[in-house]
Amino acid sequence: MVTRKSRAEIEKMRRAGRVVAEVLALVEDALRPGITTAQLDALAERHIRAAGAVPSFKGYLGGGRYGAGPGAFPASICVSIDDEVVHGIPGERVIREGQIVSVDAGAIVEGWHGDAARTFVVGDAAPEARRLVETTRLAMMAGIAAAVSGHWIADIGAAVEEVARAGGYGIVRQFVGHGIGTSMHEEPQVPNYRSASRGLRLAPGICLAIEPMLTLGREEVYIKADGWTVATRDGSLAAHFEHTIAVTDNGPEILTLA
Ligand code: MG
Repeated sequence: MVTRKSRAEIEKMRRAGRVVAEVLALVEDALRPGITTAQLDALAERHIRAAGAVPSFKGYLGGGRYGAGPGAFPASICVSIDDEVVHGIPGERVIREGQIVSVDAGAIVEGWHGDAARTFVVGDAAPEARRLVETTRLAMMAGIAAAVSGHWIADIGAAVEEVARAGGYGIVRQFVGHGIGTSMHEEPQVPNYRSASRGLRLAPGICLAIEPMLTLGREEVYIKADGWTVATRDGSLAAHFEHTIAVTDNGPEILTLA
């Protein structure tokens, strides 16, 4: 079921979104060669809890197109490096110069969720890596711009696909964006590609996480042995950007801003 959120509920989601944006800014500041992904996770969790919020990823049991590992996700952020697309588990892995690092964060404030992700370039990365990252961000922004009342879910995927294809990139199809509210993952699914059906008609109060995952090579992915981490089958680089947005009378509003 798709629920339309009231103005007051959207304001609560904006508060959760602000915490998520702050986490991503903190991680960006801390991200440098030599730091471990577990250290980034510790920073993130500390900030979320200090803000009076709850990390929504920690203990997440997963399911279907949103990742389903063995048991609960053990951390507050996902950190996915280079060929990893999403759902990387923080640990003792050390960040190195030239990597691209995708960080996904989620927080709950008074029962309402915010969910956002960015891919960071560590130091001096190859130009094709930088281009992939920037195009993925632009694809997300195109998807957001299409999230207008009266449009359809399929318009978002079409807008994302247009930017991705123009760049010559693969689009991960196995994982999709989603509705969001009192649960992290609600109806509807939000594919990052043109679909045969136009899906739900967008109306004010519908809140969505729009999150393209693009690859430098082919679009096929697999799950690594840890049961969570999604990586490209051909080993090519992948990038991921995500914002939580609300469809309003005045167009799409991004809720995951600092
Ligand atoms: Mg999401």
